[in-house]
Amino acid sequence: MQTIERLESEVRSYCRAFPTIFSRARGAELFDRRGRAYLDFFAGAGALNYGHNHPVLKQRLLDYLVGDGIAHSLDMATDAKTRFLAAFERYVLDPRRLRYKVMFPGPTGTNAVEAALKLARKITGRTEVVSFTNAFHGMTLGALAATGNAAKRRAAGVPLTHIARAPFDGYFGPDVDTLEHLERRLADHSSGLDRPAAFLLETVQAEGGINVASPEWLRGIAELARRHDALLIVDDIQVGCGRTGRFFSFEEAGIVPDIVCLSKSLSGFGQPFAVTLMRPDLDVWKPGEHNGTFRGNNLAFVTATAALETFWADDALSRQVAERSAYARARLDRIAQEHDALVKGRGLILGLAFADPELARRASQHAFEAGLVIETAGPDDEVLKLLPPLTLTHAELERGLDIITDAVARAVKTTPRRTSPRAVLAPSTTYPHPQHHGVLS
Ligand code: PLP
Repeated sequence: MQTIERLESEVRSYCRAFPTIFSRARGAELFDRRGRAYLDFFAGAGALNYGHNHPVLKQRLLDYLVGDGIAHSLDMATDAKTRFLAAFERYVLDPRRLRYKVMFPGPTGTNAVEAALKLARKITGRTEVVSFTNAFHGMTLGALAATGNAAKRRAAGVPLTHIARAPFDGYFGPDVDTLEHLERRLADHSSGLDRPAAFLLETVQAEGGINVASPEWLRGIAELARRHDALLIVDDIQVGCGRTGRFFSFEEAGIVPDIVCLSKSLSGFGQPFAVTLMRPDLDVWKPGEHNGTFRGNNLAFVTATAALETFWADDALSRQVAERSAYARARLDRIAQEHDALVKGRGLILGLAFADPELARRASQHAFEAGLVIETAGPDDEVLKLLPPLTLTHAELERGLDIITDAVARAVKTTPRRTSPRAVLAPSTTYPHPQHHGVLS
């Protein structure tokens, strides 16, 4: 750790929260230098939905490397890219009757968001994009402007413009319809809100505190976008690739976004990889108009193809997510009842929200001491955030929840009571629970 502390910038963060040096990982477990095992309920912030070093994906990658397969290719045509696109069409697009063109915007999530914003502005000729309270879209200037967190935006050092902020579903609690609010502002030429190029949203705000948009709200925003000739961009970077059950998080709501951003678990192996999907008629790019050196991560193409073939040829993974989610929720409900917390989330992105953020912070710390890596989220880091690999076993989930139960109890015992919790916690919108695969109630 001394080498890291001496040489790595002060900007480092997760190695402070989880202070050990990790050496190996397999499935839902990480092992540190001393051989200590940790259950991983952080999963690369959603980049490891299929766990660490999945054997099928790893073997494909090894075979490809041994065969001198192309590793880097800018955006030239390669076998690996061709196979990825064909698999994406076969396992993701065709079964859902989705027609999207696929753009490779650069390797990270924020690259996918920048490309989406640029395209929406180019198509509509409008500058403003509506994004939502507590949104998180990335750290480059366009995506950062759309992000809610003030400290992150302040770090830009320049004005971040051309974003109109609107309250997310449930922002004011269950009694205020934020859709109606937005509708009214858009209908009123004197509200100060101009017709936007796009609405950019996460269906579940992950970093922003696991805020779940209801299917009705999502359909309402989609309809609003249509009425105002604006585009609907869904940022599915953290909650896509099966995190909420289906491949895309918006499927249950029955909406078809104009543009979709995907990254994180798309490669299935933690490889940097992102795509921006767009309706074919929106593909108005000129050749090379948006480019980047690392658009051809062929190692990611290979593992992504293997992941699609392994996990998305049928609905077994989706059903497993629903089952694990129902079990985890029931256990979290009990913890929440006992300690005045709120359960939030969908699928296998679940959280325990505390009125006092110190409780979430201490619970994460105690969990780590007991062998579980688990992060916090939300504007004040007040939500203990469960983000395990979707492939974890029932026994692993049970073990993780046992640790969480003890860690929360320990945190409650050692934290001085500062606030009356119920007064501060606004219940957020939740999906009907338990969520059955394929059923929208
Ligand atoms: N969008 C969402 C919803 C995210 O959760 C993240 C990262 O956490 C990003 C965008 C940015 O992705 P990246 O960190 O790969 O640039």
